[in-house]
Amino acid sequence: MNTAQTQALMLYVAKQVVASEPLLTEADLVIGDGDHGIGMERGFLAVIEMLEKEQLASVDKVFIKVGSTMMASMGGASGAIFGSFFRAGGKALKGTSDFDAKSLPVLIEAGLQSVMDRGGASPGDKTMIDAADMALQMSKTTSNESLESALSKVAEAAKQGVEATKSMIATTGKAKTLGERSLGHPDPGAITTAIIFKSMADFVKQ
Ligand code: ADP
Ligand code: MG
Ligand code: MG
Repeated sequence: MNTAQTQALMLYVAKQVVASEPLLTEADLVIGDGDHGIGMERGFLAVIEMLEKEQLASVDKVFIKVGSTMMASMGGASGAIFGSFFRAGGKALKGTSDFDAKSLPVLIEAGLQSVMDRGGASPGDKTMIDAADMALQMSKTTSNESLESALSKVAEAAKQGVEATKSMIATTGKAKTLGERSLGHPDPGAITTAIIFKSMADFVKQ
């Protein structure tokens, strides 16, 4: 996938996350403070505006600009979290003009590392990290496949990560105040992460 196609991919992803606002709001109302949907909507609306206006020069710049646009427009925990995921992931793809199955583990690993460094959470803490980590493990096994095949497996793995968060107790963010009451419910940020990969997979398939 060349740079223009990657830019179109992220535009599609942004629109799908915006369309998921009600679902994300609902999920954060159950175990958090209810602002996750609105926050992600604000960030990705800014991303849509940026991507429709600019023509980015390389694959890494697409992801870096998506991340920095989210960081600048969202504020709050998830602006920094999802913003740094894309920005750090993009930086790791420096010089890339072909986004393929080999790019996936590079993007996800650097993005995830940045999220963990910044926020101090780890797998098992009931955050977006749990979905991203499952996606990362899968992407490492699919790097020799077509992008379509890799993304479809990575999206499925992220979804399994969301399922796994149901049996975890939140230790970070707003949900931690709920403690054991978060048991049985999925983490909102993990849902967003799964939507991002599912949207990438759907875009490549169509
Ligand atoms: P807030 O918790 O400030 O209200 P949001 O509701 O927008 O922010 O986002 C909540 C999501 O952010 C959580 O569902 C979780 O996935 C993610 N999150 C929160 N804290 C962290 C962290 N330290 N590391 C990684 N992800 C986190
Ligand atoms: Mg919240
Ligand atoms: Mg909040």
